[in-house]
Amino acid sequence: MSCLRRQLSTLCLLLCTVLSAFAIPAKKWAAQWEPTKLVNGSPVLFRVAAPLQLAELNGNFLGQEFSFRSSRACHCWYGFAGVSLATKPGTYTLRVEGKSAGGKETAMNYLVRVSAAHYPTSTITVAPAFVEPPKELDPVIAAADAAKKQAFSATDPTPLWSGAFERPTDTETSGVFGSARVYNGKKKSQHLGLDFRASTGTPVHATNAGTVILARALYFEGNCVMLDHGQGLVTVYMHLSEFKVKEGDKVAAGQLIGLSGGTGRATGPHLHFAVRWRGEYLDPRTLLELHPPGS
Ligand SMILES: [Zn+2]
Repeated sequence: MSCLRRQLSTLCLLLCTVLSAFAIPAKKWAAQWEPTKLVNGSPVLFRVAAPLQLAELNGNFLGQEFSFRSSRACHCWYGFAGVSLATKPGTYTLRVEGKSAGGKETAMNYLVRVSAAHYPTSTITVAPAFVEPPKELDPVIAAADAAKKQAFSATDPTPLWSGAFERPTDTETSGVFGSARVYNGKKKSQHLGLDFRASTGTPVHATNAGTVILARALYFEGNCVMLDHGQGLVTVYMHLSEFKVKEGDKVAAGQLIGLSGGTGRATGPHLHFAVRWRGEYLDPRTLLELHPPGS
């Protein structure tokens, strides 16, 4: 028995030594990103190890500033950013700047390659009023635009999300992000979300923790919920038949926020799920596939 105990304490000592060897700070700078192959329209999760005990770490990528969070799970700093759909293929700089508790500053640059995404084309048929809305609906559409604009401007300065983003429903996906769409043979646009097959009444869950910044009926989106996850990251759930939250509510990851439906410009009941970061729509599938530390 005492022998087993001794073996266990030796094992613990060994483990503790190994773990502390990976603790922040690292011997030198190191950075990784997910997905490893970035394309235009992709969310990106950066992980950075710094050679100094830092109190804060900030990043700049594609002209956007964002802050990193430290994690014991990865012994690293991690931060969320995005590559807009309009980004041209090329090599871009990730700049990271850290500051120690004593005020010592340190910085590093990394070159990040962005390739061109290949998004498909599809043809969609909807009610004509959703392709060329009648004049009398101008005020309705203008009110919806104003509500969206206000919601998008109300982002929390700190990240509210943690761990992996989970799927909003258990159902299969249909329409993918980025596909070029031709509505009724006329209007062309790009599909800026991920569609989930969902009959009316299917439970829709918050993909991560956040604040409800919009929960109302909009012309094109139908009954729509928007969740702010902080620092400009917003998830959007459209065409709902019912709301289960109201504006201002704090929601936990996985919380029921509504029931799916076919309201607004929809070909039938389904869930349109979108991801917006700093005014740009990003590929929701990639967000759902990220592995943030601790997930
Ligand atoms: Zn859709």
